[in-house]
Amino acid sequence: MEKVVIVGGGAGGLFCAARLLQAGVTPVVLEAGVRVGKKILVSGNGRCNLSNKNVSAERYNAPAFVAPLLRKYGLERVLGAWEELGLLCRQDAEGRIYPYSNSSGSVLNVLLHALKGAKVRTGAPVLAIKRERDSFLLTYAGGELRAENVVLACGSAAGGGRASFALARELGLETTPLRPAVTYLKTDKFKGLKGVRAKVAASLETGGKTYEDRGEILFREDGVSGVLAFWLSSFAARAGGSGVLCIDFAPDFSREKLQEVYGGREELLCGLLHKALADKLLRRGGLAAVKDFSCRVSVADTDNQVTCGGVALDELDAETMMSKKHDGLYCIGEMADIDGECGGYNLHWAWVSAMAAADGIAARIKR
Ligand SMILES: Cc1cc2nc3c(=O)[nH]c(=O)nc-3n(C[C@H](O)[C@H](O)[C@H](O)COP(=O)(O)OP(=O)(O)OC[C@H]3O[C@@H](n4cnc5c(N)ncnc54)[C@H](O)[C@@H]3O)c2cc1C
Repeated sequence: MEKVVIVGGGAGGLFCAARLLQAGVTPVVLEAGVRVGKKILVSGNGRCNLSNKNVSAERYNAPAFVAPLLRKYGLERVLGAWEELGLLCRQDAEGRIYPYSNSSGSVLNVLLHALKGAKVRTGAPVLAIKRERDSFLLTYAGGELRAENVVLACGSAAGGGRASFALARELGLETTPLRPAVTYLKTDKFKGLKGVRAKVAASLETGGKTYEDRGEILFREDGVSGVLAFWLSSFAARAGGSGVLCIDFAPDFSREKLQEVYGGREELLCGLLHKALADKLLRRGGLAAVKDFSCRVSVADTDNQVTCGGVALDELDAETMMSKKHDGLYCIGEMADIDGECGGYNLHWAWVSAMAAADGIAARIKR
């Protein structure tokens, strides 16, 4: 009988395993893929934006649920835990936190180092989990295992991941509908601008609320990408998947200033914006469109980094992430119905929920 089996060797699963080892508990990690930590490596364009100085409960879909855990495992404590594992970090001007090396490989390497004493099996997808009297029976591609505690850390289908929410459902846990988030916003209004970047102020009206910020967008043939669009997509995803996007393409200049410079000679908008964009705006209303371009958008169902939805939060104890139905069963990371904004908040949640589960398990084992 194993003390703990962690299903999924991704961000949350590996961090949870490292914390358990530090607490003197040796877990088994069962990973479906041929390697662990695949999403860690691709995250943040290979730089791994692992947290954010501005982390707060409001950055997530369920602030009331995450607030106590974010307080208990504050940013300093999380970064302190990384430092203990050997990872030092740096912060960019927007507060995004990266490994000092600027390479996601550093994050995975310190985890692999910390996990030297753990039993990690790759190519071992868990196919079924059954509750027995005081334990769980896990069937995986290489056989069966019994465990006192099971951590579901299977992530989501985002970024080509393997969705395993059925494992939770088969144990009687409710899941909420799954929707792509942190992805581009679809519209056909910017055809012909593929690859053009612009620094803009944009707002998105969705679900009766308006979200706005400044940042960079990157046009695609079928929509708007870039950090700002990714950030806005979370709100639209949570509100059903669509909204109205308004863009100010020259947020540093007033309408009056633009009128003064370009009034009567709007063909010179190419002196303000990328030529292809200026030409497009010229055809769509000229100066008026520069300050106030609006169109309906929907959240793309591809290229998403995160999935909204997962194990319903009222199934879980908000202090330990343990199931209220099954003592000893934990859901962490994206497995739970928590999604954060773009900017390091999703990985931050993976670390925090992993710390909570590891502490909960260590306390249960001691009892
Ligand atoms: C391209 C991309 C870039 C991203 N960049 C960032 C970023 O910079 N900052 C940020 O905060 N977030 C980022 N994210 C999101 C972030 O990577 C995830 O939110 C985070 O990895 C979730 O951690 P997790 O442990 O829940 O799941 P994962 O890290 O996805 O790990 C889940 C693991 O479980 C395994 N698994 C699934 N089912 C089974 C099964 N049945 N049996 C065994 N194993 C199983 C999977 O193979 C996987 O290895 C990015 C995502 C993508 C796709």
